[in-house]
Amino acid sequence: MALTGLDIYKLLPKTNCKKCGFPTCLAFAMALANKKTSLDKCPDISEESKVALESASEPPIRTITIGAEDNKIELGGETVLYRHEKTFVHPCGLGVCFSDNLSTNELNNKINNFNNLTFERVGKKERVELILVKNDSGDSSKFVNIITELKNRTKAIFILESKNLSALEEGLKILKDNHCAIGYADSSNIDQMTNLAKTYNAVLIVTGDNLDDIAKLVQKIVSSGYREIMIDLTRTGNILENLIQVRRLALKKSYRLLGYPTMVSITGDDDYDLISMSITYIEKYASVVILPEPINWQFLPLVTLRQNIYTDPQKPVTVEPKLYTIGGQPTDKSPLLVTTNFSLTFYTVEPEIINSKMPSWLLVVDSDGLSVLTAWAAEKFTPERIFDAMKKCNVESTVSHRKLIIPGYVAVMSGKLNDLTGWEVLVGPREASGIPKFLKTIWQ
Ligand code: SF4
Repeated sequence: MALTGLDIYKLLPKTNCKKCGFPTCLAFAMALANKKTSLDKCPDISEESKVALESASEPPIRTITIGAEDNKIELGGETVLYRHEKTFVHPCGLGVCFSDNLSTNELNNKINNFNNLTFERVGKKERVELILVKNDSGDSSKFVNIITELKNRTKAIFILESKNLSALEEGLKILKDNHCAIGYADSSNIDQMTNLAKTYNAVLIVTGDNLDDIAKLVQKIVSSGYREIMIDLTRTGNILENLIQVRRLALKKSYRLLGYPTMVSITGDDDYDLISMSITYIEKYASVVILPEPINWQFLPLVTLRQNIYTDPQKPVTVEPKLYTIGGQPTDKSPLLVTTNFSLTFYTVEPEIINSKMPSWLLVVDSDGLSVLTAWAAEKFTPERIFDAMKKCNVESTVSHRKLIIPGYVAVMSGKLNDLTGWEVLVGPREASGIPKFLKTIWQ
C-alpha cells in the first residue's frame, strides 16, 4: 500500500535542516510520496525508518530480473489490476520448452525455429526471450550438453528445471553469469533449492498444489533472507483463477507472500487450445508463459497481444515527426503525402504507399501521437501545424511540383492549407487502402 506524505513525515527526523534541498521535512515527505525525490536525499534518516520506508515503498509485486547485462528481462513490479487504471509495467516473458530427451536432429530444428521467433510490429522488434530447459532424462550429462548447445546457439534467457540437484548445479555453473531461474522448489526440496539459488544468485521458482502451500514455501525462503522468487502456478489446477487470486491478494490485500511474478507452462497438442490458453494467461497477469514448440504463427498473436497490453494507455505510440521516403527513393516529382505521427496511422499508410509501387515522400506531422480525425478534432493536426512541418522539413526544396496530398478525412482543411502554403492541396482517400488507386489514377 502506498504511503501518504503524512505517513512518511512521521518517520523523518523533523529537524527541517534543508539538507535534502526542501525547505521542511513535510515538503520532502510530500515530494517523496509523489515519487519526485528519493529517500537517499535525507542524510539524517534513522536506519529503522529507512527500512520501514523502503519496504513500504516497494511495489506490491516484487520486480525480478532474469538474465544479465544486455540480455535480460524484468518481470513483476505491477501496481494495478486493470490497465486503464494506470499502466502495466513489465511485459510477460514468452518462452519455449526444450527437453534434454530431444534427438540431435530434433534439437537442431528446434533451435533454428526458436532463433526465427522474431517479429516487427509498429516499428518495434519483438522476440521470444526465454528457454525452459527440462531435465526429463534425469541424466546430468544430457542436461549439461543441451544447456551448452542452447547457450552457444541462441540468445535465450534461461530457466532450468530438474529434480536432480547436482544436474541443476552443473547447469548453473555453465550459465554462471547469466542470472537464470531454477525450478522447482517444493516441500520436498525447499532448503536445498534455496541454498542452490543463493549460491548461484539464481531466481528460485516455487511451486505447489495450491496457493496456501506456495505461500508457506515463500515464507520459508524469505525468512532465510532470499527474495529472488517466482511462483509457478502450473501445478495448481485452476490456473486462471489462481493467477487472478495472486494478483488481487498482492495488490488489494498487500499479501506479500504472493507478491512475486508468476509463471505458467502450457502443454497439449491442440493448437487452438495452446493459443487460447496462452492469450488468457497473458491477459490475466502471467509474468511468464512457456509453450511447447517454437512455432512462428503461434507466437505472432501472443507477441501482438503482449505489445498491445503493455503499452502505456496514457501515452500513444508514436513515430518521429519528419519527412520519410517510402517505397524506394523518390525524386522531386514524386508524390508528397501528409499524415500524423500516431504509430498505427503511420504503419497503415506506409504499406499502402509501398503497394502503389510509386516511391513517395511522407510528411509526418507531430500530432502528439493522435490519429488523423482525433488530432484534427483536438486541433493537433491543423493547416498551421502542417505548414510548420513543411518548413521544418524543407519540403519546398525537396519536391518541385508544390502539391500536397492530405487524408480524405480532413478535406475540410484543404482551403485554409492552400491559402497558408500557396500549394495545391489534393484530397486523398479516406482510408489508407485507397492510396494505391489514388496515386495510380488521380496523382498520375
Ligand atoms: Fe528533514 Fe531530512 Fe530534509 Fe533535513 S534532510 S529537512 S531532516 S527531510
